[in-house]
Amino acid sequence: MLRRLSLWPPRALAPALSTLLLLATTAASAAPPSQSPHAKSQEQQRTPPRRPAPESSSTGKKVGPPQQQKAKGEASSRGAKTGTIIDKKPKGSMSLGAPNRGQLQGGQRLRSTRHLEVRPGARTWGVPQLVQALQRAATSVNKKFGHSVLLVGDLSKQGGGELDGHRSHQTGRDADLGFYATNSRGKPIQLKRFVAFDGAGESRGTPSWARFDDARNWALVQALLEDRNVNIRYLIVSSGLRTRLLAHAARKKVPKELLDRALATLISPKDSSHDDHFHIRIGCPETMRGTCIEESFVRSAGSPAAGAPGSPESAAASEVYD
Ligand SMILES: [Zn+2]
Repeated sequence: MLRRLSLWPPRALAPALSTLLLLATTAASAAPPSQSPHAKSQEQQRTPPRRPAPESSSTGKKVGPPQQQKAKGEASSRGAKTGTIIDKKPKGSMSLGAPNRGQLQGGQRLRSTRHLEVRPGARTWGVPQLVQALQRAATSVNKKFGHSVLLVGDLSKQGGGELDGHRSHQTGRDADLGFYATNSRGKPIQLKRFVAFDGAGESRGTPSWARFDDARNWALVQALLEDRNVNIRYLIVSSGLRTRLLAHAARKKVPKELLDRALATLISPKDSSHDDHFHIRIGCPETMRGTCIEESFVRSAGSPAAGAPGSPESAAASEVYD
């Protein structure tokens, strides 16, 4: 593991290499391969976590018992047992490590506003670039259509780290967004929870009469992609809904550049997941180069690249972005 990581990438991680190696090593030993996106969460619901390390390190504040702090100045600057970084953390808000193996330092909490509603119980800490982009996008959709409230689920927990129900969402760069919907007559409605829609835009659940709102959901995609203050890396949504969104954009004759960007950014998993929400991932902000790893680590058992940083293609193929 150490040798492989030290070869990738050759220069970008130099300032925080030791930090990342510690994070990766700790998380690699803690994270068993998972066959389905939710396998881990179900397991966690059945049995209490046995490993103290990920939880105790997740806030970024707990620095381990005093005897561990005495080790400061030795080869590593972390708590020997917890894997928690004691010093050498860069200042300010930082996404540390990879989306599925990392932490969030100095995150900002997304709160409900007039045009954005945080789902009850959601963990909504993120890097400011993500939090503020969501607020701007929700405001933008409301400005165009009125009476629009964006429903937001999990981002990351305070301090980041493993988040039950997700593989990624560890470093403040991921968020789950509910869809805008209408009733059967096309009148906008406000959903209070994530509702799944099929490729025809019809509800797969309750309320059965709800419809996927092509216009407002596209407006959300457009607002995010046109936001110059954030780099949207992925918008993950089921293939049926992706097709609807792109068809709507084509009908509206949006600029080719925007359509190309949407084609590249909207990604669909091979299974039929993400039919009840967008998963948004922002790219590593410039200010976090050296601490932030762009892609998730590929975890699938048996994969030759297991444990190595992924590429966008491998991320899409192995669905390590949920
Ligand atoms: Zn997600």
